[in-house]
Amino acid sequence: MSQAEAANEPVSPENPKPEENTAEKKKLGVTTWIFIGLLSGIIVGLLFNLLVPSDTPLFTVIVNDIFYIVGKGFIRLMQMLVAPLVFCSIVCGAAAIGDGKMLGKVGGATIGLYLLTTIIAITIALIISQFVNPGIGLDLGSIAGQQVSTAESTSIVDTLLNIIPTNIFSSLSEGSMLQIIFFALLLGVILGHLGERVNVVNSFFQQFNVIMMRMVTLVLKVAPIGVFCLIANTFASLGLSALVPLGKFIGGTYLGLLFQLCVVYMGLLALFAHLNPIRFLKKFLPVMAFAFSTSSSNATIPLNMETLERKVGVDPKIASFTIPLGATINMDGTAIMQGVAVVFAAQAFGIDLGISGYLMVIVTATLASIGTAGVPGVGTIMLTMVFQSVGLPVEGISLIMGVDRIVDMGRTAINITGDAVVTTVVARANHMLDRRVFDADEPDAVLTDDAIEEAEVVKLHVQEASGETPAKF
Ligand code: ASP
Repeated sequence: MSQAEAANEPVSPENPKPEENTAEKKKLGVTTWIFIGLLSGIIVGLLFNLLVPSDTPLFTVIVNDIFYIVGKGFIRLMQMLVAPLVFCSIVCGAAAIGDGKMLGKVGGATIGLYLLTTIIAITIALIISQFVNPGIGLDLGSIAGQQVSTAESTSIVDTLLNIIPTNIFSSLSEGSMLQIIFFALLLGVILGHLGERVNVVNSFFQQFNVIMMRMVTLVLKVAPIGVFCLIANTFASLGLSALVPLGKFIGGTYLGLLFQLCVVYMGLLALFAHLNPIRFLKKFLPVMAFAFSTSSSNATIPLNMETLERKVGVDPKIASFTIPLGATINMDGTAIMQGVAVVFAAQAFGIDLGISGYLMVIVTATLASIGTAGVPGVGTIMLTMVFQSVGLPVEGISLIMGVDRIVDMGRTAINITGDAVVTTVVARANHMLDRRVFDADEPDAVLTDDAIEEAEVVKLHVQEASGETPAKF
């Protein structure tokens, strides 16, 4: 997902464009503005809630008209992106995987484990959310601006059969996500296999993907205003009662991330690789810190590879293939956020998803994780697809968007740890892990300045390229 990195990486005080590095005036990045939009939306909304009675013309014009129309317009912009973005990014991703050259025993096992850990991650998120109840106490039905429809409850057999489109054009126009993904995966794999012979079509999708990511960047530019209006509308209608659920959403997500790290990843290392998970974690912590601060799996690739090779002892032949692949298709942290978000919204809108709804969430969140670019914020855009697949109103995403960066930092750290753990397990199983390196108590020496510098350069390049990079997701 290299294009995306470029397109979506906001310029922020911590990530200035190189030429602006020295400028005294620091430009605030999109994520900072979204956060400002959230906070000011909460304040303005609460002021309206407390000071302006809801039956006055002022309330009607500002809250019910202006905030509603702008907020709704922003939601429509997000929805507009989903079908073409998902279609294109999955075609490109599958084409990259499907070329067969890199695959083989190692590739198959790695992809299998990537998928398995993502399915476990989303399942954990759904279970934890049942205890945290992030959306209980919040009634979003009134701000949806439409009648909240109950999620369709179709049988599991029908759900599975519905994955196969009968007409891909109607799937695209109706936004049937699983059908779009099914077709896109097939198309991508075939493109990958045909290779050179279908160069034109391949480049068409790659370039279209770059264009879509540029569109994402544009939409994200107006996100602060959209978020402000949506949040102000919510808080004007609901008052203080909306704050606690938001805290529970963040808390629930971090609980899921912690579980994935401490139980799933550490368990995989101990049981399947017979390695000391604490030793692994000590060596790997700087990489997690880097991912946490950049919120970008892509920017973390060089540091991740370097650490695995020099500190953990993984054969470079494996890491150099599996880590970039993982940064592209394996997003366990993102899947956890999406699981908690689904329960948050379902509870807040009073929608019962039922077992088949949750199964659908597991499938779509796993696929969304494959289609999520390793750059800040894309996980939340892909959340639209998960919501749509089970009939949840996408208005619920607006609240989540305001606190997205806080959650993005944690989920990115887990995303890249998942890549590293799977790589280590696969390397160990294939006798491609140097135990002496893993057991060595070397200090920071292995994390060379070169590795850190290289990671920084990639980060800057990613921001600079802004869409010109041939993209994957
Ligand atoms: N920031 C995440 C990553 O780079 C993707 C996301 O969930 O938005 O891994």
